[in-house]
Amino acid sequence: MARDYYEILGISKNASTDEVKKAYRKMAMKYHPDKNPGDKTAEEKFKEAAEAYSVLTDPQKRQMYDQYGHAGVKGNGFGRSSGFSGGGFGGFDPFDIFREVFGNSGFGGFEDFFGGGGSSRRSRTSASTRTGSDLKIRLPLTLEEINKGVTKKIKIKRLDTCKACDGSGSKSGTSRKTCPVCHGSGEIREMTRSLFGQMVNVRVCSNCNGEGSVAEQRCPVCGGDGRVKGAREISVQVPPGVSNGHYMTMTGEGNVGQRKGSRGDLIVIFEELEHDVFIRNEDNIFVNLHISPAEAVLGTELEIPTLNGRVKLVVPPGTQTGKMLRLKQKGIPHLHQHGRGDQIVRILVDLPKNPSSEERKIYRDLLNVEKKRGCVSHRFSKIE
Ligand SMILES: [Zn+2]
Ligand SMILES: [Zn+2]
Repeated sequence: MARDYYEILGISKNASTDEVKKAYRKMAMKYHPDKNPGDKTAEEKFKEAAEAYSVLTDPQKRQMYDQYGHAGVKGNGFGRSSGFSGGGFGGFDPFDIFREVFGNSGFGGFEDFFGGGGSSRRSRTSASTRTGSDLKIRLPLTLEEINKGVTKKIKIKRLDTCKACDGSGSKSGTSRKTCPVCHGSGEIREMTRSLFGQMVNVRVCSNCNGEGSVAEQRCPVCGGDGRVKGAREISVQVPPGVSNGHYMTMTGEGNVGQRKGSRGDLIVIFEELEHDVFIRNEDNIFVNLHISPAEAVLGTELEIPTLNGRVKLVVPPGTQTGKMLRLKQKGIPHLHQHGRGDQIVRILVDLPKNPSSEERKIYRDLLNVEKKRGCVSHRFSKIE
């Protein structure tokens, strides 16, 4: 199945938001379930288009997709069971997108256009009550883990189907009855009078959660909800090179829906832990290296730590304090791409604060030599 969002909408990778919107309108009109009753393929395409639209019109999501899109292709853990595929955005509803784009009034016109039929609303309600909610979890990672990639086991608490009633919410041997509060409609209508006149407020019936029916006798284990608190250990494969705020969607690992509905998603948000000495900027690693004046003047060769093991660093003679030395390809790997960042070593020359008498003697001799040579310039320059 075509999964690429650009492909779904038939647009190029650098399409503007307006073009995305236009393409979505075309698709939504063509594949709206009201226009294609009972056509599963059309329904799927309608959903796909809405999902593509919701991602490509959100600059942040679009950027993420442009980055992670390759992942799906490469199967780096952002593929089938996770990531953006599988229709798994938090609380994602294609009909909400549709209304957002066409507007509420426009929707009425749209129904007229197709010869009426309010099935979209009905299917929406049933779909949303049966899909469980998404779970979000933060996953702290060290720079070392980010550098190599890591498989992490995390424990999550989530709602599972109640085994005692098999999700029905009814005590075994009893059945469901029409909700006495809303009389089966699932909605409560309230008339309110205000300065602006009479208003009708419609809200979801809280007694039955909009289902229109309640358990005759509630299941004693789950109290009628059909779900109980459970825990599970989940293995998350973190690819090398992720950043703070990147997230991974694990489709179908969230809370279970009511009445054995499908599960919501688990969204794992990566959090970069602070490192003792390294600082990350994009995929480059920055570190300060303190050396002595003699080393700066004469130059030196040292072994220094990187995230990828110890490497030799040549400090050339005459290195000034503040000089940045670059160790190519010793930084963090680019996410889902070849190559990696660099390690940048900033040289700081530490002057001796408590020189020994021997050092002081050498410095005095050095100063005399410098004066004789005339290289103590005492020149002035502009502060940068
Ligand atoms: Zn009710
Ligand atoms: Zn139960």
